[in-house]
Amino acid sequence: HARMAGLVREATRVTAAGPNVLKAGARKKYDYLVVGAGFAGSVIAERLASQHDAHVLVVDKRPHIAGNAYDRPDEAGVLIHQYGPHIFHTNSDEIVDYLSQFTEWRPYQHRVLAEVRGQKVPIPINRTTLNMLFGLDLRTDEQAAAYLAARAEPVAEIRTSEDVVISAVGRELYETFFQGYTRKQWGVDPSQLDKAVTARIPTRTNTDDRYFGDKHQIMPKHGYTVMFDRMLDHPNIDLLLATDYRDIVAEIEAGHIVFTGPIDEFFDFRYGKLPYRSLRFEHKVVDQEQFQPVAVVNYPDPLIPYTRITEYKHLTGQTHDRTSITFEYPSAEGDPYYPVPRPENQALFKKYEALADATPDVTFVGRLATYRYYNMDQVVGQALAAFRRLDARRKAFGLE
Ligand code: FAD
Ligand code: UDP
Repeated sequence: HARMAGLVREATRVTAAGPNVLKAGARKKYDYLVVGAGFAGSVIAERLASQHDAHVLVVDKRPHIAGNAYDRPDEAGVLIHQYGPHIFHTNSDEIVDYLSQFTEWRPYQHRVLAEVRGQKVPIPINRTTLNMLFGLDLRTDEQAAAYLAARAEPVAEIRTSEDVVISAVGRELYETFFQGYTRKQWGVDPSQLDKAVTARIPTRTNTDDRYFGDKHQIMPKHGYTVMFDRMLDHPNIDLLLATDYRDIVAEIEAGHIVFTGPIDEFFDFRYGKLPYRSLRFEHKVVDQEQFQPVAVVNYPDPLIPYTRITEYKHLTGQTHDRTSITFEYPSAEGDPYYPVPRPENQALFKKYEALADATPDVTFVGRLATYRYYNMDQVVGQALAAFRRLDARRKAFGLE
């Protein structure tokens, strides 16, 4: 990871300069101001710079690029994800082709175990899970399907995250794997969350123990930060880190703003705060080669305060005689990481979205700005679509 360490240092150097980068003679006039150097901001900045020859200033209040996907070598030299495990998976060839301009890939199929009743069993629930948990010998998909069908409770209209699971596997498995984990992760019962949240996790009757079923399951070979560094490495892109855009917006002239932070904050919380769920990450170096059998172990037990432990070497393929892990403690306070999908929050978001629609000189993109529980690939897709709209608008105004 020598190259990566160099690039991270490079990014830090820009950081150290802080707002002085502007004062030191960078331009004051840009075609675009992009707020946020995560997937949403970096993809759109790259497209505007390379396809429109636009001059773009990217500002992030954190001291690094890559947003929540940021990875870095820790004090032991193990590559860790600062904001928890980020596993890339997508069904879109277009999104893989796009990102492949900036990275090579490492094939990686994600597997997760859940620690329940004193054993570590596969999650998503599959035939092996049932056999291990209940001491069964289900041998075929049909047998597993029949077993689950006998436990499943019919739900007339599947609306909530409780309904999804109960209707598929019944109450006991719901309580064992989902209720405690979800209450910890979101601070509310699954019955208070949209069905989309737990519907992310399938139920299987075969023995496929992969977490995702996507066509592409790959990790950027040298990490996310290196990929972002290449994406942002364009002569038309200036980068300003450790800077809140509000501290510099008056100093520069920008034709258009792309905003990828929390939408309620952009509008000064005019209609009140939109709830975002946060996490506290506890990173640890462990003096042994391996800590756990797979990259992620989930802890649904309500008495355990964290939701999961990640061991990065499984994800990155790095060899090292020590290993690094992260505990995730959910929290209401802290950086916004997750929009909380439930009807009243969606209603509040819609009010902010109406303000956004009435603000044509600002484009809102990304997980926080559009209040959508999106994975990385979905944010890339959303950013590419936003670029196409800006492109169409430019053509309509005859600005080519
Ligand atoms: P972000 O990455 O949040 O970027 C927004 C940026 O805007 C931030 O860097 C922020 O500092 C900056 N910003 C905000 N306000 C301001 C301001 N006022 N001034 C300047 N800058 C500002 N997705 C997957 O596909 N697979 C996974 O395994 C996965 N795991 C995840 C695990 C966790 C714990 C979390 C939290 C998310 C995970 N995701 C995963 C989702 C993924 O992180 C997001 O889809 C993606 O990073 C969103 O990109 P974004 O650019 O929209 O937002
Ligand atoms: N979930 C759960 N138990 C698990 C795994 C997931 O209850 O063992 C629920 C929980 O509500 C979680 C949601 O399913 O927030 C989505 O899980 P995922 O692993 O996709 O969450 P993320 O990686 O986005 O945090």
